[in-house]
Amino acid sequence: MRLILLGPPGAGKGTQAQRLVDRYGIAQLSTGDMLRAAVAAGTEVGLRAKAVMEAGDLVSDDIVVGIIADRVEQDDCQNGFILDGFPRTLAQAEALEQMLAEKSLQLNAVIEMQVDDAALIGRITGRYTCAACGAGYHDRNLQPKVAGICDKCGGADFNRRADDNAETVALRLNAYHEQTAPLLPFYQKKGSLLAVDGMADIDEVSGQIKAVLEAG
Ligand code: ADP
Ligand code: ADP
Ligand code: ZN
Repeated sequence: MRLILLGPPGAGKGTQAQRLVDRYGIAQLSTGDMLRAAVAAGTEVGLRAKAVMEAGDLVSDDIVVGIIADRVEQDDCQNGFILDGFPRTLAQAEALEQMLAEKSLQLNAVIEMQVDDAALIGRITGRYTCAACGAGYHDRNLQPKVAGICDKCGGADFNRRADDNAETVALRLNAYHEQTAPLLPFYQKKGSLLAVDGMADIDEVSGQIKAVLEAG
């Protein structure tokens, strides 16, 4: 199974990708997570990406395409993968098409998560993740069962992203509408686009994704 989760920042891509990993045993490839790891490690890619990410802009296509090209070669991608946050520009989508064609691989579906802009700010400013295992939470929408303790790993340290503030979110939303939204007609024409209502609650969205994948 090879999927793309497409939607604006805060749409719930990472949340649903974690559930798809558990359901299908495929790898989650989040370019945002990989870039943040590169920034934390101070690699050359990280040094190039840091200021761009803090400004809410998109990192250059050559950097992210290079990261994904390396990543899909790894063993855990053999059964498939979920692309979370990639592609984000038409140039990235075209590079992905070429990459898959060279490996004779096909995408099963592109899932569009539809969420109103007004809901995204609250989702992003309330978001935090477990420092140990990366599990995602939200101040109001998705709290750990025991306050302050990660459900998945028992960890007690949590992170918030530097770019998850209201000002940067507005810039990231602009980048989405200008550079990423054109991917919707691109995949629509190919017949691979399946939409779900990302405004629904988390379990409901998971159910819709399962349903469209089984129907499509
Ligand atoms: P993305 O990866 O698309 O940027 P996330 O999956 O990180 O988005 O979700 C953003 C925040 O919103 C997280 O804190 C998450 O817990 C919460 N969230 C995700 N899906 C929903 C939903 N359907 N309803 C309410 N909150 C959600
Ligand atoms: P979100 O889903 O909340 O938008 P991500 O974690 O996917 O956040 O991305 C965080 C930031 O990393 C983006 O604002 C952008 O600067 C950079 N980034 C992630 N994926 C890409 C990509 N495919 N192309 C360009 N920049 C990217
Ligand atoms: Zn954890």
